[in-house]
Amino acid sequence: MEDLFADQYPATASKNLFADIILPVPIPRWFTYSVGPDIQDHIGIGYRVMVQFGKKKILTGIVAKVHQKAPEVYQAKPILDLLDDFPVVNALQIKFWSWMASYYCCHMGEVMNAALPSGLKLSTESRVQLHPDFDFDNPGFPMDERELLLLETLGKNEEMNVEQFDQLLPGKTSHKIIKSLLGKGAILVYESVKEKYSPKTEQRVRLASKYTGEDSLLQSLFEALKGKEKQEAVLLKYLQQVDVFRDSGKNTEGLPKKVLTDQGCSASSIDTLIKKGVLDAFKVLISRFDSVPMTEREFTLSPPQAAALEDIHRHFEEKNTVLLQGITGSGKTEIYAQLIREVLQSGSQVLMLLPEIALTTHLVNRMQQIFGDKMGVFHSKYSDNERVEVWQGVLKGRYNFIIGVRSSVFLPFDSLGLVIVDEEHESSYKQYDPAPRFHARDAAIMLSWMHQAKTLLGTATPAFESYFNAQNGKYGFVKLDQRYGNAELPHFRLADILQDKKKNLLKLDFTRLMREKIQETLNRQEQVLIFQNRRGYAPYLSCDECGWIPQCEHCDVSLTYHQYQEELRCHYCGFKEKVPVSCQACGSQKITTIGTGTERIEESLSLLFPEARIARMDLDTTRSKYGYQRILDNFGAGNVDILVGTQMITKGLDFDKVSLVGIVDADRILFYPDFRAGERAFQQITQVAGRAGRRDKIGEVIIQTRRPDQLIFKQIISGDYADFYRLEMAERKQFFYPPFVKNIKIVVKHKDFKTSEIAAKKLKNLLTDIPAKKIVLGPEKSIIGKIKNLYLFEIWIKLDRSGNVQQFFKQQLMGRIAELQADKRFRAVRFLVDVDPY
Ligand code: ADP
Ligand code: ZN
Ligand code: ZN
Repeated sequence: MEDLFADQYPATASKNLFADIILPVPIPRWFTYSVGPDIQDHIGIGYRVMVQFGKKKILTGIVAKVHQKAPEVYQAKPILDLLDDFPVVNALQIKFWSWMASYYCCHMGEVMNAALPSGLKLSTESRVQLHPDFDFDNPGFPMDERELLLLETLGKNEEMNVEQFDQLLPGKTSHKIIKSLLGKGAILVYESVKEKYSPKTEQRVRLASKYTGEDSLLQSLFEALKGKEKQEAVLLKYLQQVDVFRDSGKNTEGLPKKVLTDQGCSASSIDTLIKKGVLDAFKVLISRFDSVPMTEREFTLSPPQAAALEDIHRHFEEKNTVLLQGITGSGKTEIYAQLIREVLQSGSQVLMLLPEIALTTHLVNRMQQIFGDKMGVFHSKYSDNERVEVWQGVLKGRYNFIIGVRSSVFLPFDSLGLVIVDEEHESSYKQYDPAPRFHARDAAIMLSWMHQAKTLLGTATPAFESYFNAQNGKYGFVKLDQRYGNAELPHFRLADILQDKKKNLLKLDFTRLMREKIQETLNRQEQVLIFQNRRGYAPYLSCDECGWIPQCEHCDVSLTYHQYQEELRCHYCGFKEKVPVSCQACGSQKITTIGTGTERIEESLSLLFPEARIARMDLDTTRSKYGYQRILDNFGAGNVDILVGTQMITKGLDFDKVSLVGIVDADRILFYPDFRAGERAFQQITQVAGRAGRRDKIGEVIIQTRRPDQLIFKQIISGDYADFYRLEMAERKQFFYPPFVKNIKIVVKHKDFKTSEIAAKKLKNLLTDIPAKKIVLGPEKSIIGKIKNLYLFEIWIKLDRSGNVQQFFKQQLMGRIAELQADKRFRAVRFLVDVDPY
């Protein structure tokens, strides 16, 4: 770490020292301030400082860089104050933020916002107080009128913010005065960091020390308590558990009040004893996280697992990143665990990313068994206090292994040795909103590289981007294609929706085969998972006779049905056409809109299987913090026969009694208007199928589709990812899709339709003029053309992959947007840039 930034720490304090500051303002750069001699010895990267910004504002920022180069175009203002005695973030974090801002075309301030838990976040309200040493009678300098007014007001109010001074002193002079008073040592300026972080405490009691020395005093105490049975009981309960005479240390620790009340002691009697001075009450700081006993069961790796581990080691000798493709149930977790052990033993930190903690309890539990207290969990539904606690835990070295969701890449690691990204293909690693719109896998690879650490990507069905990098040798590649203990892969069957519909066998979206299989499973008292894809909100059309689905001529994606305009549109290039009256493949006029939700499936199932106990797991049923857990626990305990869900159910479920998995509508995944639809279908179907029949049971998977002839089904069933990849990639290449190009999406928003459209068109022209290898598409109205009263237009850019082109183009892009925003007409237009959109 030191050597990376060595040139930025001056060996001795010099007179001309400058600092680049990250400020929470929407301007994509750092600001240079001069460092006064008084703080030259103390300032460093990651410290918070106070600076004047513009004419009026005083802001708090974070030091990104310390150097000796004066800004060329302006006179640097001095840093007003240094706020910390130690850095809040480390140099590697700043470097990482900086990379993220430039790669994802956003502002450092936005990254800073995402990175710091709000409990540690800086408020921009600077506050002023009288210096404790300041003496009105003997100020030590001549005061002018305004200074006196300010100081007197402060004396009365104890504490004020800068805004209040502005009201007090007309003509924007308050800052000058604050500055001069600061210099004279009459006041202090500080940041009221809202101390949202409140450590969790526990109420405890112990026997007052006067009773612990002599038996006799205690005897007389009991005498005195005669007749007061409840109080006596409290005392007895306490003494039963804490042997105050044998071990005085035990009494110092005391007992949690709650332990006593849980054992039936009355809370008011405890309070009375405290009042009488028999018991002392005190508080102790406790961790928010229960400590978990390490009950490590050493698993010996099976020969294929051991071989995979060895391969990973071998690749790490030459490569920073390794892709582990291991089929579901192959036991990737045990391989991860082994690697983590090794890295922790060498003294480095480990970060393991998971798409969603709540869904992978069995993996988290397993890790907790092995690593116990050394492991911290960073949950997406944690409260802010809990997040701060994990942050502090990493900072102070309590946790050297973190298992967490995407935002855990921002934790203050200083010596990562290994980063693992499990289920690396998962689209939930991408942050949609707000900026930074980063992909946690890609960010993690960069973070790991900055730490000179190794990255392991694990999945059964790699993202094309990752497989592409493995194929061209950028990543090492390791394959594990046996289930642990030779458990068998499930058997697949396709159910033809259209055939059944024609024969009148389709009931409430369920084919006969699916219904029969569900019934059989229920009869055997085993469990069923029914999967319905969430990304199905965009409706499309399909022919009832032959299953034909209208496609875009230019983009190889299915067209989206826009009911309002009665037309079909391509989400990518803007191609549109009227809704066809007849099927272009077979001429039939029976064309239906497709779009079914989990809720309706649940309803249908309860009509078809009235005795079955049915539960649903989707965004709606899992909003609360423990929503997932409740549903999963219930299912695990066997209180539910059929669980209906979205991709949430495709993940870490590992239940013995699931022997049937049903996919209600594979076409919805396959024909979603997105060039990644095929890839996603392969991933999701494989993933959800993997939930069927683990251990000694062979599971069954039923896929309902209108197009059983699709090649992809054959590939999924035979697990032939490589073949599927090869064919899909040919199309991606032909149509210029990632990973052959880099996509950038820009959403233009304004409350006025015309303004939004004009701004988007202007931006398109500006972008087209940038001399870089690219294609600029659009602007097109977004699928949902109006959100919260703002009209949305989209521009899509397909950019050459090479690093230089990307960097150049992104810089230019940000410049052009700034240019547009400088135009009065477009000041209120918002431009959201999404690099590598999903
Ligand atoms: P994956 O994540 O690759 O789908 P898991 O890691 O969940 O697979 O492993 C599948 C099952 O096999 C789990 O129940 C796990 O406990 C078991 N298992 C895997 N490896 C071993 C091992 N070496 N010894 C004992 N059990 C194992
Ligand atoms: Zn198109
Ligand atoms: Zn047709």
